Amino acid sequence: PIFLGIESSCDDTAAAVVRGDGTIFSSVVEGQTALHAAFGGVVPEIAARAHAERLDGCAEQALREAGLTLADLDGIAVTAGPGLIGGVLSGVMLAKGLAAATGLPLVGVNHLAGHALTPRLTDGLDYPYLMLLISGGHCQFLIVRGAESFVRLGGSIDDAPGEAFDKTAKLLGLPQPGGPAVSREAERGDPARFALPRPLLDRPGCDMSFSGLKTALLRERDRLVAAQGGLFQQDRADLCAAFEMAVADVLEEKTRRALALYMAEGADRPALAVAGGVAANTRIRARLTAVAAKAGAAFVAPPIALCTDNAAMIAFAGIERFRAGGRDGMDLVARPRWPLDQNAAPLVGAGR
Ligand code: ATP
Ligand code: FE
Repeated sequence: PIFLGIESSCDDTAAAVVRGDGTIFSSVVEGQTALHAAFGGVVPEIAARAHAERLDGCAEQALREAGLTLADLDGIAVTAGPGLIGGVLSGVMLAKGLAAATGLPLVGVNHLAGHALTPRLTDGLDYPYLMLLISGGHCQFLIVRGAESFVRLGGSIDDAPGEAFDKTAKLLGLPQPGGPAVSREAERGDPARFALPRPLLDRPGCDMSFSGLKTALLRERDRLVAAQGGLFQQDRADLCAAFEMAVADVLEEKTRRALALYMAEGADRPALAVAGGVAANTRIRARLTAVAAKAGAAFVAPPIALCTDNAAMIAFAGIERFRAGGRDGMDLVARPRWPLDQNAAPLVGAGR
């Protein structure tokens, strides 16, 4: 089947046309970074307005780039949550309108399921696989057992790692988004000069914490500023290197544990997949690759454009749900919160 996907849950307005075999006919993403830049974060009201203004054009462009019309489609998939409610509502209303006008099936998609199913779109992974979702707003381990079957093994109890990279950049006067900027600085830095904590590594389970790192970093920064009157370039590089190393250490160890839990289920061709913008980080990627190899699992990292927010993943997750018999009526609701694993069978022996 061929689906139009619609995504508007955060600060990207996106539409895409995708076929069930993984062919992406088009994927249009319109970011809003410039609209929110002056405010130091995403402003929900501004985001909702921008989505409402841009969604129609985005969907039209996706169809045009695909060389298709609504008559060629088999369904409409739309992010129905979780996210900023104004944006989600805009997308859901457009999808309902299109479905009502064409008679096409309407399929509501959980945004996180979109991320979690992306390695099936890009690499045709078989269920079950382990997904590590690391973005600006999310951080969790999921065993993906089916299109609507997820087991959450743990995640961050505070900041997502992308958020921590962004805050670190802000702290050190580096540009946003912080991830690429901090990573670039870290290349010239000595990760051993500052001893940053490795939060929750001493506790069992797969939960993580990243907000303490930022506090520790702040303390080191202020100590240097008090002693020297400012930060030298090398200080900045060393702090970035220490921070990136700490995040990588935590992710590596927690991934090792999550992999062990997942492997205990006995997948035929075990695989660890990543999604989210932090998956772009080369040092973190290298660590995860090594952990997977050591455990005997394949490592799958989709192209970055499909790791960050996009509508191709929503169209594809919609197709997966549709194939499993899922669809929605005109009573589909937009949900600000929507945990993924409510439908999953309990995992035996998951010591959280
Ligand atoms: P979501 O709703 O999925 O959380 P988001 O927009 O917050 O969406 P993404 O678009 O998936 O998140 O990713 C953006 C985040 O990824 C930012 O926090 C950014 O700093 C981080 N990031 C991007 N590149 C890198 C990198 N090379 N290293 C570390 N972090 C990175
Ligand atoms: Fe996302």
